[in-house]
Amino acid sequence: MISSPAQFNNAIAALPPLKLFIGGQWVDSDSNERIDVVNPATGELLASIPHASARDVNRAVESARKAWDGWRLTPPFERATICHRIADRILARKEQIATVISLEQGKPYLAEALPEVEETAENFRIAAEDVKRLETPIIPARDPNKRLFTFKVAIGTWGIITPWNFPTVIPSEYFGPGLAAGNTIVFKPAEQTPLAGFLLTQCIAESGLPPGVFNLISGDGPTTGDALVAHPGIDGIGLTGETTTGDTIQRRAGVKKLLMELGGNGPQIVLEDADLPRAAKAAAFGAYFNAGQVCCATERVLVDRRVHSDFLDLLIQEAKNVRVGDPFHPEVKMGPMNNNSVLEKTERHLSDALKKGARVVFGGKRGAGHQTNMFFEPTVIDNVTADTLLNKEETFGPVVPLITVNDYDQAIELANGTGYGLQMAVFTRDIDKAFYFAERLRAGNVVINDTTDYWEAHEPFGGGGGTRSGYGRLGGRFTFDDMTHLKTIALHINNLK
Ligand code: NDP
Repeated sequence: MISSPAQFNNAIAALPPLKLFIGGQWVDSDSNERIDVVNPATGELLASIPHASARDVNRAVESARKAWDGWRLTPPFERATICHRIADRILARKEQIATVISLEQGKPYLAEALPEVEETAENFRIAAEDVKRLETPIIPARDPNKRLFTFKVAIGTWGIITPWNFPTVIPSEYFGPGLAAGNTIVFKPAEQTPLAGFLLTQCIAESGLPPGVFNLISGDGPTTGDALVAHPGIDGIGLTGETTTGDTIQRRAGVKKLLMELGGNGPQIVLEDADLPRAAKAAAFGAYFNAGQVCCATERVLVDRRVHSDFLDLLIQEAKNVRVGDPFHPEVKMGPMNNNSVLEKTERHLSDALKKGARVVFGGKRGAGHQTNMFFEPTVIDNVTADTLLNKEETFGPVVPLITVNDYDQAIELANGTGYGLQMAVFTRDIDKAFYFAERLRAGNVVINDTTDYWEAHEPFGGGGGTRSGYGRLGGRFTFDDMTHLKTIALHINNLK
């Protein structure tokens, strides 16, 4: 296992040039501005990256557009081979990428960063295999001399803009199917966690992908990201980020194709007949995995009044078992939070709930004895009411707010009442009740008897209808539906008789 300072230094020293990747080359930005990347666990400066200008963005988009015709007309089986090669390169660098993720993002190396890198590689493998089976219908024709064929074809050049909580797996959810289908890409990683994105780009660069098909521009959202979104040469935008960012991008994008994976406020509903120990474990995992900085984190638990007290006792036990500290320690389950803004939001949501009558029963503050004040205690807060920010908004911190419910209607109303609807969970031993809830919950994904944080790389994941958690689906072959469109080719044939 990598855990010594020398090995951290090696992981950083072996990064590719921290330049832009455009047209198959690492090139200088024409801006002199750089953005510092800081280790949240130690406060150390890890590196600095270029803050790409609008002119840099333009160069990257032009390069991607130029490469598009060649790439979209490359046979899908060749594109698949390159996706497999990207997966091979990622796995060859697995430990370095995971080290860099833990250093810049803060998640535990063994429990979370290594599995993230493995899943990143898997996303390219899944796409490589799915593109070989992108079958489409042949449509019956009205005209007896015509045959109508349909093909799923690439949309064009995509701007892919991703958040800091999963620095490689989220980008790969777009890159795998996007590239396999014949799209070209300009990638802007989050400014807090770009280094893993540089490594991912290096793996892609080594795969034999033609120059220009994949480009990296680093920078912040409001300038670099905005220049990408508004660029007329971009055909599609993939955004994983906050709902407010989705709003801004939608306004700036005009008629481009959009695929948006936005915020969540996932409730876990615990009914009176639930397996309580399992439900408590699931809630703790859902709230503390990646320090709660997950779109499908367990943001609230709606617990039936009859089992509230027993559930609370079990949950406190689970919270006590979460060891917080150095992400490279093999027993640590929760590292630092990634940035101040998410920490302050967590504190703001807790203090709002306390003012409205809630009671912290475990944790509730920044942890002591760490190298920085970026660590937050795993927290359980009880007596949370519907009018609190914890209930209404996405907190994105390691907090389990308990809201007691009296009946099923109240649970469903609270679950559906925030406007978010990404992933929700329900715990019950009764299949009829499970489906009663599953069919009424306004979410893209519902989990029965497991955490809101449960997902598999190839399942369709995204916001539910009537919510502000986004639209389109990421995950396996379902992403092809959003990153391609159907092209119809009508063939005229002469009848022989
Ligand atoms: P943000 O929305 O702040 O940022 C996401 C990306 O958008 C970043 O690269 C950011 O750049 C960029 N960005 C910000 N403003 C603009 C703009 N005006 N134009 C173009 N790009 C812009 O989200 P976070 O990084 O804070 O990530 C957390 C959010 O992501 C949470 O709401 C979470 O729920 C959501 N998310 C959703 C998932 C899903 O599958 N639905 C999965 C994971 C996270 P920069 O930060 O560099 O300024």
